[in-house]
Amino acid sequence: MMVTGISWTGLDELSVRLADFYRDLHEHPELSLQEHRTARRVADALRPLGFDVTEQVGGTGVVGVLRSGDGPIVMMRADLDALPVAEKTGLPYASTARATGTDGREVPVMHACGHDMHTTCLLGAATLLARAAGTWSGTLLVVFQPAEELGRGARDMVDDGLFLRFPKPDIVLGQHVGPLPAGTIGHTAGPFMAAADSANVVLHGRGGHGSRPEATVDPVLMAAHVVTRLQGIVAREVPPAETAVLTVGRLQAGTKDNIIPDTAELGINIRTYSPRTRALVREAIERVIHSEAAASAAPRPPEVEWITGVPLLVNDPSATATTAAAFTEHFGEQRVRPMPPVAASEDVGVYGEASGAPTVYWFWGGLDADTVTAAFRDGRFDSLPTNHSPHFAPVVEPTLTTGVQTLVVAALTWLGKPADGLD
Ligand code: ZN
Ligand code: ZN
Repeated sequence: MMVTGISWTGLDELSVRLADFYRDLHEHPELSLQEHRTARRVADALRPLGFDVTEQVGGTGVVGVLRSGDGPIVMMRADLDALPVAEKTGLPYASTARATGTDGREVPVMHACGHDMHTTCLLGAATLLARAAGTWSGTLLVVFQPAEELGRGARDMVDDGLFLRFPKPDIVLGQHVGPLPAGTIGHTAGPFMAAADSANVVLHGRGGHGSRPEATVDPVLMAAHVVTRLQGIVAREVPPAETAVLTVGRLQAGTKDNIIPDTAELGINIRTYSPRTRALVREAIERVIHSEAAASAAPRPPEVEWITGVPLLVNDPSATATTAAAFTEHFGEQRVRPMPPVAASEDVGVYGEASGAPTVYWFWGGLDADTVTAAFRDGRFDSLPTNHSPHFAPVVEPTLTTGVQTLVVAALTWLGKPADGLD
């Protein structure tokens, strides 16, 4: 599909201004649910472009609507939040920010997932599409979402009436910057990013003196059995053609070497790619925990609380093929490649689920191409920084200009042409 009607003149000058905007966001990251400054900057930049701007949707979310005649409603989404990570990139615009986390403790803050790049590129695409509003027809819905890293920002915006107060989209578009060479784009049809579920578990024992185990029920030993037994679920219960990840990322018990504690706590995270496997793994986890507690003669049944859930992100196969063809047309075959599904999760899938619209979500590269080539040559590919690492920050160019163009090309693929055929 040929994308016509947009003028790329002015993109160079725009990219310089966007790069400043990006570096400012990078230097001033904000934790999930605290994206006040970022949201204000986004709203202030959108208004002069002619968008109807609404702030504080689902917390700090910002929604912009731009109408240009009749036609499809195209939603584009970026996320605003950063992570509790101490930046080690050594960049001149590296973050030294600190903030108070959800548990009341002070933490360092860094844009270690590249959401500052997502936000900047969506603003750039909004600028170009607004300037070219006479060449397309339809409605642009730009959504700047908070709290993606908590897996709840998309749900918060939908629950705050995103698709009741604003036009309901015909298609949902979005992108994530990742450890691919800068300037390249990776796309996948079908299941793309895993469903994620987390559980908090409390195992109950009976505490006592470390010298008299016979008078206690040791929750530490119980927890150790649970951790090893859980690993049998993926190895022995999930069919080999399916895949799943099960991680016990938190295990806490006791205060002192000679005291057997009353309880042990576990934090469990799972990633799955089909509703069937998701249900299988969740049920197996509960079975193992209850059975191990019974096997240890626990005085009380364990508590299993499922705390977060991010749905499976499924890219609509036909819409993805159409969008990928437009990318190939614009960027050339060398820069656009299919990629395998990833085990990370994204709550962008919530929008498709809530609106019924097909979703097309792709990755684009942020790694310096020479660094990637050298790492491959020396067999050091695992040493390249990935999202959530204290060393992860995309190179500003060509990442930024590519990320603006992908969104514009994708939007124009789905927007209509004006009746008088201006293109
Ligand atoms: Zn992330
Ligand atoms: Zn992310």
